[in-house]
Amino acid sequence: IIEIKNLRKSFGDNHVLEGFNMNLYEGENLVIMGKSGSGKSVMIKCLIGLEEPDSGTIMVMGKNINQLEQWELDELRTEIGFLFQGSALYDSMSVRENLEFPLRRHTKKFGIIEDTTPLVMEALENVGLTHAIDLMPSELSGGMKRRIALARTLILQPKIILYDEPTTGLDPITSKEIILLMMSIQKKYNTSSIIITHDVDCARVIANRMILLIDNINYAEGTFEQLSTSEDPKIKAFFK
Ligand code: ATP
Ligand code: MG
Repeated sequence: IIEIKNLRKSFGDNHVLEGFNMNLYEGENLVIMGKSGSGKSVMIKCLIGLEEPDSGTIMVMGKNINQLEQWELDELRTEIGFLFQGSALYDSMSVRENLEFPLRRHTKKFGIIEDTTPLVMEALENVGLTHAIDLMPSELSGGMKRRIALARTLILQPKIILYDEPTTGLDPITSKEIILLMMSIQKKYNTSSIIITHDVDCARVIANRMILLIDNINYAEGTFEQLSTSEDPKIKAFFK
């Protein structure tokens, strides 16, 4: 569903990605790990067209994203849900308004919806927070914010979900709940996901497959079991 070939991206002398390759297959949870500053977020930004690669090709659902008109890119983006590092809710908007926002912004997918309540409620049901519909973000705990952000990501019913560190800043129990939620969503909607994380427990539970971003490339690839038992010192360093 996604194919990245030989992706290169530099900022001046900083060669962040020097030939990164990756496939995401339908229905899988692909975990990407890499040191801080190794280029994981840059790779995701290239993937959704927020950064332009220096070279390489990125195909998403059969389309080369760097050859699309702006409107085509906008349309494709409604198929890609993105959970930002942190949760990034709009603080001045209620939970309901936060969830309505993508519906109002991307009217092509569902048309103009007069009553958004059923869609908002369905998204909130998926994260177990229907009772929070009229609260403001300041009235939510960190774990609840993360769930609401996830509900907002789901509301356009994307085929692909990109998670940039979904469990950072949460306690272990709340992290576990978020991970289980991500897995139940994936089952229910058969979404395909890329999960960027530093959290080895998260990777162990959720990864169907993993890629390690080391030395500016996709250095190693395999199941959690394969990589976590590797003898390669660079790989071992991740699983200590
Ligand atoms: P973390 O795990 O801390 O989130 P990361 O792997 O996501 O790290 P990136 O945010 O992808 O790291 O950054 C990779 C490198 O690219 C860093 O050296 C960063 O300074 C640089 N970088 C990212 N965006 C830009 C930009 N817009 N302009 C210049 N340099 C950038
Ligand atoms: Mg990052």
